[in-house]
Amino acid sequence: MAVLLLNASLQPLNVISHRRLVVLLTKERVAFVDEAAERAAAEALAVRRLPEGVVIVRLLRTIHVPRRLLRPNRRNLLLRDDHTCQYCGRLGTATELTVDHVIPVSRGGAPDRWDNVVIACRKCNWRKANHRPEEVGLTLRRKPVPLTQEYAHIIFLRYPELKEAYDRLLAAA
Ligand SMILES: [Zn+2]
Repeated sequence: MAVLLLNASLQPLNVISHRRLVVLLTKERVAFVDEAAERAAAEALAVRRLPEGVVIVRLLRTIHVPRRLLRPNRRNLLLRDDHTCQYCGRLGTATELTVDHVIPVSRGGAPDRWDNVVIACRKCNWRKANHRPEEVGLTLRRKPVPLTQEYAHIIFLRYPELKEAYDRLLAAA
């Protein structure tokens, strides 16, 4: 179970722990997004239990959130590329997948730019070796772009159940 914290504007901010939720509720910094959720949570917390299912709360006052600059590290690349080899489309676990430089660094490719690094399976990476994709008959399935800086995107990639609940909330608003 996860607790999604929204800004007062309903923009997703973060996923927080239950302990943090209780602290924020006690300090009256947050409110539940609907009355039914509030009743259910109040009943659960009254008997020192945690509310069931996804919990969404919003800050009562808007806070300014600086934009996060995401780096094209392995973890973020796996998120961007959906754990999928960008050449053959094979889905893999983190350990089965590698980071490939589209234009090899040894041939002038940028080592750490979003548009020059993609997730590749070992087989494609081995086949590609020190070549450009077109030299060995490989094609990128989609153009590598920077992972969006919207924090929500990252939250929802990691917590799909929160995305569903959040989409329902927006649809009802
Ligand atoms: Zn592959």
